Amino acid sequence: SIVVTGATGELGRLVIDELLATVPAGEIAAVVRDKEKAAPLAACGVELRIADYNRPETLAGAFRSGDRVLLISGSEVGKRVAQHTAIVEAAEAAGVAQLAYTGILGGPDADFALADEHKATERLILDSGLPYTFLRNGWYTENYTANLAPVLAHGAVVSNAGEGRVASASRADFAAAAAAAVTGEGHLGKAYELSGDTAWSFAEYAALLSEVTGREITYNNVPAAVHQEILVGAGLPEGFAAILTDVDEAIGRGRLAGTSGDLARLIGRPTTPLATTVRAALDAA
Ligand code: NDP
Repeated sequence: SIVVTGATGELGRLVIDELLATVPAGEIAAVVRDKEKAAPLAACGVELRIADYNRPETLAGAFRSGDRVLLISGSEVGKRVAQHTAIVEAAEAAGVAQLAYTGILGGPDADFALADEHKATERLILDSGLPYTFLRNGWYTENYTANLAPVLAHGAVVSNAGEGRVASASRADFAAAAAAAVTGEGHLGKAYELSGDTAWSFAEYAALLSEVTGREITYNNVPAAVHQEILVGAGLPEGFAAILTDVDEAIGRGRLAGTSGDLARLIGRPTTPLATTVRAALDAA
């Protein structure tokens, strides 16, 4: 089977949709922790395998010999090395044919805190000796367009990324790449640097928002400590705000700006432009 973990998440659901377009549903399995949340997947004919990353014993039935597995990285920062270790061990015990992993752009060279668990996971997959595919994902455009309300309310894009650029792509683009990696041939032992075709700056993002909304949206570049205060003031937990300002610093150093073209090549089409995702978000609001 083709097995997708995190299949009830936003990326996972899009991967399943991609797979359903090309693979019989009976050949697709979803590893999920919440059977009710996964009911729409079961209704499509996808096999459910119930498991929780935090309870290794539940992963015993998650994989079978010969499965092609997409491990979608967990969402609980700080717990992910232990979680991913349990999954890699279960995949090893089952003898899967492929373990594809959604890591972070730059792989071992990514030098910001959020990358640490991804780097550790790639190392443990390499140490396992399993046939792997590393899908090193850059930023989802939706990280920004899901947070348009405060930007529009204040008429400002706030960041501490300076003139740094982000080669973001839509979640659907990354999902299509993941589906291609676990259905196509020639992807074993490969590491893909997945990012959008075009890297944009926050000043350009603000200008685009101004153009699309017809209102003046400025770019407010602030020091990291000020951004941290603003985020905490808006209700974000300190730790999460620190992760975001650290990512912005990394963006300032160009760490999420790479445009290798790997994503467009894997999906066989250009990546979704920033403006397209922005317009879709504004239309849905
Ligand atoms: P979601 O939070 O929507 O999905 C995370 C998925 O992981 C969910 O299906 C969730 O299950 C599942 N999951 C989390 N913890 C466990 C657990 N203990 N046991 C079993 N399943 C678990 O995130 P996205 O789909 O948007 O993104 C996928 C991953 O990509 C994230 O988890 C994160 O690692 C990373 N990411 C990357 C970003 C980028 O810009 N490149 C931005 C944000 C995240 P459930 O549905 O039951 O909650």
